[in-house]
Formats: sequence, structure tokens, C-alpha cells
Amino acid sequence: MPVRKFDKLLSPIDLGPFAIKNRVMMGSMHTGLEEEKDGFKRMAAFYAARASGGVGLIVTGGIAPSRQGWLAPFGAKMSSKSESKDHRIITEAVHKANGRIVMQILHSGRYGYHPFTVAPSRIKSPITPFTPWKMSKIGIVKVMHDFCRTAGLAKEAGYDGIEIMGSEGYLINQFIVTPTNQRTDSFGGGYKNRMRFPLELVKRVREEVGEDFLLIFRLSMIDLVEKGSTFEEVIQLGLELEAAGINVINTGIGWHESRIPTIATSVPRRAFTWVTAEAKKHLNVPLITSNRINDPTVAELILQEGEADIVSMARPLLADADFVNKAAAGRAETINTCIACNQACLDHIFKQKIASCLVNPKACFETKLVSKPVTNPKKVAVVGAGVAGLACAVEAAAQGHFVSLYEKADQIGGQFLMAARIPGKEEFSETLRYFRNMLDDKNVTLYLNKSVTVEELLEFEEVVIATGVNPRRISLQEDSRSSNFVSYPDVLNGKVKIGNRVAVIGAGGIGFDVCEFLLHEHSDLALNREKFMDYWGVDMNLKARGAITNIERNIPAPKREIYLLQRKTTKFGSGLGKTTGWIHRQMLKDGKVKMLGGVDYLEANNMGLKIKVDNKEQVLQVDHIVVCAGQVSETSLWKEIHDRLPLNSHLIGGAHIAAELDAKAAIKEGIETALKL
Ligand code: NAP
Ligand code: SF4
Repeated sequence: MPVRKFDKLLSPIDLGPFAIKNRVMMGSMHTGLEEEKDGFKRMAAFYAARASGGVGLIVTGGIAPSRQGWLAPFGAKMSSKSESKDHRIITEAVHKANGRIVMQILHSGRYGYHPFTVAPSRIKSPITPFTPWKMSKIGIVKVMHDFCRTAGLAKEAGYDGIEIMGSEGYLINQFIVTPTNQRTDSFGGGYKNRMRFPLELVKRVREEVGEDFLLIFRLSMIDLVEKGSTFEEVIQLGLELEAAGINVINTGIGWHESRIPTIATSVPRRAFTWVTAEAKKHLNVPLITSNRINDPTVAELILQEGEADIVSMARPLLADADFVNKAAAGRAETINTCIACNQACLDHIFKQKIASCLVNPKACFETKLVSKPVTNPKKVAVVGAGVAGLACAVEAAAQGHFVSLYEKADQIGGQFLMAARIPGKEEFSETLRYFRNMLDDKNVTLYLNKSVTVEELLEFEEVVIATGVNPRRISLQEDSRSSNFVSYPDVLNGKVKIGNRVAVIGAGGIGFDVCEFLLHEHSDLALNREKFMDYWGVDMNLKARGAITNIERNIPAPKREIYLLQRKTTKFGSGLGKTTGWIHRQMLKDGKVKMLGGVDYLEANNMGLKIKVDNKEQVLQVDHIVVCAGQVSETSLWKEIHDRLPLNSHLIGGAHIAAELDAKAAIKEGIETALKL
């Protein structure tokens, strides 16, 4: 009998039209497959894998009810029978895998990235370039009709229900609050009028689809924008939505234009479930909670404590399709945990690329990266247990090869070990926990503290070199006698006690990380939700409009005086992720980090660092100069072995391309190499 530690999580729940087998819902997430040529086949494989993995209910990415409602030109839309027919392959695949799936209907309103957007009032959003057209009263009725038609078509396509996207600042939200709704007719003005659009819409949709079809409403419980709804208004709307025919209410947290992090890795786990818990005191239908829930123990706790009835996870199910089955089988320690980095999922979507997952590159590539047992297992050596080597070793062993993994350090992890030490990146250690357990699970022989020799490698049929990178030394560092230079690994590994005044050379991802480390060393901001809300100015008493209006932020005094320097004159952190870069920039601003661009590095001595900016020389009086100037590949072993026959050798990860050093590329390359062995 499998161990069932997650009794509540794995218990069924009746939603009205039907029951689902457990309390895990895969939340809506656009994947980019919606617009791909062979996208429906790939989406069918993607969702079916999650249904086979045990998820109780799946919500698709948002589908627009009309062209006006598009997120971007030629985005996913369902307004005709032929578009509805395309979806059959998805619903059939999920039902075959014993799953349930509902389609999200999303009208972008002023968040659309095209010139035909419409909204209650002609007011541009701060995050899109297009000013929307004001909807006429006839236009409003037409949009309701569009929603109804799409709901009917979703039913025809075989979906078990729909989710109406009423949060994150999209059209429905835009009707509800005054900053975006300045109408003077029956859809604007007082709250009763501003609620009219969602309530009319839900009533009409219920009439269209009948009682046997699940209706979920994603309700913005805290808007996290100035002059957003009060919590009383949210509850009033929730109760009226129930009366209008909604079966389940899902929690929405924050509009996209909000400047409060809600899902990044620096947001504590279950940071916002207290909001759903508060709503649960007033509402009657089952409530779904979400945001930064990535672990079955946390999910179970939320349910045990009665904060919600169902837990929504989107990214964690990209990271591991078998999340639920692993939890049910007592193998939770082998779950590949979402580290909330956004690097391969949301950041891809913003770049119009297909979403995937940094820790699981097979996500959305189920039909492309296929693991099959091999008929002729080989003896494979992998050298280097950073994430590239780890991914390669585990995948090769999973296919049946006999794999030995060599690591010269005393533990696995490479650059990821350092990343996990950055305050706000604690989740990165979960990936190493996953790999550690998978090495055991797949019988990879691991040698730590071992510098493997060429002679030893000659015993293998395939050798994969994943020896990683070394930090780049800059010319000033080579020429100078100053003892104040330190490398970023020495800082992050705690080898050097860093002084109070620091210059950081290089403002790439690592330069930013090092600044955050120096500012927030030993801080539990990303682990403690009360501290986090206090820092970002979120009202946990739910008295303020939007939970932020007139709430002061509580930013601790910086621990150090830091200069962040770069030679270029472009915006600082322009290479950081689209969805998280602004958070890192804000944290450094909060820490009063002085950012100097267009810098020439002239001299380093015991006084500090002499630089030239705008033709003016100045000396930064600092105790340490931390060099974060990128990396160079470590290829010495590769150079020794790569033409030694009969070895088949492969160079991967940072050892292959240091310039592109990023974990996403490294893990993907590791898996692709293993699939080719
Ligand atoms: P990086 O992004 O290449 O930045 C290093 C910076 O050092 C360069 O931007 C460059 O800026 C400066 N530099 C390079 N050579 C120099 C020299 N000879 N002398 C002085 N300055 C020099 O490298 P990184 O910060 O180590 O990051 C590596 C990778 O890790 C990135 O690709 C990134 O994807 C990933 N990463 C991302 C994040 C994140 O998104 N939060 C965090 C950590 C790591 P100037 O030329 O302007 O001086
Ligand atoms: Fe999670 Fe990062 Fe994967 Fe996105 S890319 S699903 S945030 S681990």
C-alpha cells in the first residue's frame, strides 16, 4: 500500500456538476503552444501528461472570446465551430487519462497588445502601449454575447467547464474599480453599477451552458493597485457571483501592473493563502487558493488549516507532471520542484517563445524530448555534477545506461549551490535535493572529491564533460597589487568576510545577486510572509483599498554601502528576466545601491577603486571589490580527452558555452545529450 501522507490533498471534492478526485488544480497558464502550428497535438500531450500524473482538475491557458479580446494579434481565440473542433484532441486526451479539464475564457481588455483593444473607459494601462477604445453599451452586450458563444463552444469541444478570468487586471477587473472605469452609465459610477458587467455576464453564461457545466470565476481578492477594491466589495461580488450561478471561486492576487511581487522566487511559499482564508469566512462555494504553492506538504497544510478547499498550482506542474502521483506514492522527495524563477515559463511567453521549465525542459516538449529505454545500455561517465552533468546523468540512467558521475568538490550542485545562498533564491536548493534523490533512484554511481583521470575515463564508451566554469578575472585584477579584489564565489561561499563598503564590478545577473547577498545576508524576507508583506507594503488587515492604498513600506536600513558598476551605459539589469528584473532593480534601489554606468576601471589600491565616469576621475573608498565579470569555460579535461579514441565525448553546459551560462540551457543540453547517447 502506498504511504498516504497527504490525506486532505488527495481527498475528492464535489464541485456541483461533478466531483474531482483530489484537491490539486493545475492553474491556467499560457504556454505559447496555443498559437503554434502543431500546437493542439502538443497541448494534448502536455495536458494528458499532467492528467496521467494525477492532477484533479486542469485549467487551460486563457482563450479569447473574440479578436478584440486577444492578448496579442493572432492569439488563441474560440469564436467559431472550427476553432472549437481543434480543441477536441485536448479534451479527449485528458479524459482518456482520467482527468478533468476546463477552458479559461480571458478577455484582455486594455491589456491587449494590439490597436483594437476595448475597455470600460479610454485609459491606457501602464504596461501596454495601446490606448483602448471605450466600449459602448451595445459593445458591452456584444462582449457578453461573445463570452456566451465561447462558453457554448467550449462545451461542444468536450470541456468539463470554463473558468472566467475576472482578475489580474483584465477586462472584467477593469469594470470593477474606478481608476479604469470612469463611466457614467449603468456600468459605471457606484459599486453596484461597476459589478453589473461580471454579474450579467455570469448569469447569461449559466443560461447558455446549463447546470451540468462547471463555472469557475477567478476573483481578484486583492488588486494590489492603488484604489483597487476593498475586501468588503470583493466579498459582496463573490456572494453575488455565487447567486448568479458560479460553482467555484478561484483566488486572484494582484493585477499585472502591480509593483508587488506575487509569484517570483523571492515571494515566500503560500504568501497569499491568508487572503483566501479570509474570504472563506464569508463565501459558500469551494474556494481555490494559489500563488507560490510548490510543495505537497505546504499544500496539505493549507487545506488542513482550512484556508482553502482546493490548491492551484500551475508552474509546479510544468516542473513535474507527476507531482500528484509522486505525493500519493510516498515519493514526494523525488518531485522536481518549481523554483519560481520564471526563466523558461513566463519570461518565454513575454518573448513570444514557447514556455517550458528551467528544471524540466520536457515541459511543453512532450512530443519532442522523448525518453525511451535503450536496447544496448552503455557505460557512461559524466564529469562534473553541476546541473548540466546532473541532468545528463539522471536522464542517461533513466534510459538504462550504466552511469558514473564524477565531481571534484565534496558535494553536487556547482553554480546552483551558490545561487541557493542568495537571499530570495532559497528554492534553488530544492533542485539539488531532487537531483540527489534521482541519482539514487536511477542508480547513478556518484564519486565526490574525485578528480577523474583520462586513463580512468578510457574505460567508458561515452564520456560527457560538464566541468563548468571559472569566474573571469579582469585585467585590473591581474595587474593590481591590491588585496581587496575578491571573486564572487569566494563571497557567496563565505570564504571572505566582506567589509561595509563594497564595489561590485559587473552588473549582470551575478552582480545583482551579489548585491542582494551583501544587502540581505541572513535575511528571512523570502521565507516569512508577514515580513514580506511589511517590506512591500501589503495590508494584511485587509482594510486598505487594493490592500495597498496609503500603506507605507517598511524597508530596513541597508547593511552595506554598495556601488554596482558597469562599463556600458545601458539600463542596469536590462539582461535580467522580464518578469523578475524589476524586482531585483527595486530591491537594489531600496538598498540604496549606487549604480554607475559608463565606468573605466583605472586603479585599485588600499584606498579603494579609482574609476573614470564622464571623463571625471574619482576614488570609491571601498573595503572590497567583488568581481562579477562573467565566466570562462573550464575545458582542461576536455582538451586532454576529446580526440582520444575509442572515447565518444561530449562537452556540455558552462564548459561548452560560458557566455550563455545559464541553468536553463545547461539542464536542457544535459538532457538532450543523454537522449542522443
Ligand atoms: P554577465 O551577464 O555576462 O555579466 C557580466 C558583466 O561583467 C557584463 O555585463 C560586463 O558588463 C562585465 N564584464 C565582462 N567582462 C569584463 C571585463 N573584462 N572587465 C570588466 N567588466 C567586465 O555574467 P553574470 O552576471 O556572471 O551572469 C552569467 C549568467 O547567469 C547570465 O547569462 C544570466 O543568464 C545568468 N544569471 C541570471 C540571473 C538573473 O536573471 N537574476 C542571476 C544570476 C545569473 P560591462 O561590459 O558593461 O562592464
Ligand atoms: Fe517554475 Fe522556473 Fe520552471 Fe517556470 S521555469 S515552472 S518558474 S522552475
